[in-house]
Amino acid sequence: MSTAVPSLAEVIAALDRWYPPSTAESWDAVGLTCGDPAEPAGRILLAVDCVPAVVDEAVSMGAGLLITHHPLLLSGVHGVPADDAKGSMVHRMIRAGVAHFAAHTNADIARGGVSEALAGLFSLAEVTPLVPSARASLDQLSVYAPRAAVPSLIDALTAAGAGEVGNYDRCTFTVDGTGTFRPLPGADPAIGDVGTVTSVAETRLSMVLPRAVRSRVLAAMYAAHPYEEVAFELTEQPPLPSDLGTGRIGRLAAPLPLREFTQLVAQRLPRTVWGVRAAGEPDQPVQLVAVCGGSGGGYAEAARAAGADVYLTADLKHHSTVETVTERTGTVSSYAGRPMALIDAAHWATEAPWLPVLAGRLSEEFSERLTIGVSELVTDPWTLHQPSGSAEPSSAAD
Ligand SMILES: [Zn+2]
Repeated sequence: MSTAVPSLAEVIAALDRWYPPSTAESWDAVGLTCGDPAEPAGRILLAVDCVPAVVDEAVSMGAGLLITHHPLLLSGVHGVPADDAKGSMVHRMIRAGVAHFAAHTNADIARGGVSEALAGLFSLAEVTPLVPSARASLDQLSVYAPRAAVPSLIDALTAAGAGEVGNYDRCTFTVDGTGTFRPLPGADPAIGDVGTVTSVAETRLSMVLPRAVRSRVLAAMYAAHPYEEVAFELTEQPPLPSDLGTGRIGRLAAPLPLREFTQLVAQRLPRTVWGVRAAGEPDQPVQLVAVCGGSGGGYAEAARAAGADVYLTADLKHHSTVETVTERTGTVSSYAGRPMALIDAAHWATEAPWLPVLAGRLSEEFSERLTIGVSELVTDPWTLHQPSGSAEPSSAAD
């Protein structure tokens, strides 16, 4: 293994493999905000938000790369002047040699992503996506080639995007057999003669490919195959359930009263001034738990439809919360007759658990070639919390 400090490009290649930018929502703005991919990454700081205090932290630790969950420039901009709030952060980072990279909705849905990290705090069993993403459609290509041509054919098909299955590439299956053909007048056979039945030791080589790269893979097959006419089969795989998706749902080992589960959530999430709050009957038992890092209010109905006893997310709104915890909708036996409880936590606190997971992956991938820090700053914007009617404020200084 190389001992050189990895370039930004190498680190970004790993991030893009774990959190493919193609899986981000169309409105999202993920990837590099500023920075030169050819520069060394060296020190990396991980944070949820790119705000001035986090930029200061990155600069003072001498970071070459700041990775945040939230994009800095999510809304379209036509410039980054230094007298603009966001522009000044971009200037500060560029001057200090800090690159900025965001992995947002692509990190939300991923394996090892934000919602999976949140679910991981509660030792849930049988964790699956709450709203599975449609898996990219796959084709399967089987091509027949003389045995000696198979290695270079695999190289060419791999380079065109075939043979990737999860964290594996160059995935192939081969079967040896015999191919026969008779070249007709006008043919220019690579093997055999016109008018003569020819028998060749051939291999049937099978690889999967994303349907989106079908044309490229077929072009690579034709270019790399020695025959004038190429025999192949191409089949479309049906859509499959995906293990990527929004939110996660899983089961506690034993049911807990909502009151105790809320305490557990407060203990396991990183500390914020206002902690967590729950909506629902405090003594109602909860076992099937749905979670979604960030603003997951829009998926409450999916959680209820999945039979969740409780749904933990952030930024919940009054009307939908009232409806969820009071209206006994549906006829599915698992949730008919008992409303689902809701737990509302600080947006930052539901996403911060991903940072140590990402730090672990980067350490494993690059070992001691990188220094990785997780920001200690709490960028939840709420700095005071006071229950109505109480006299003593609590604050960030507590
Ligand atoms: Zn968020």
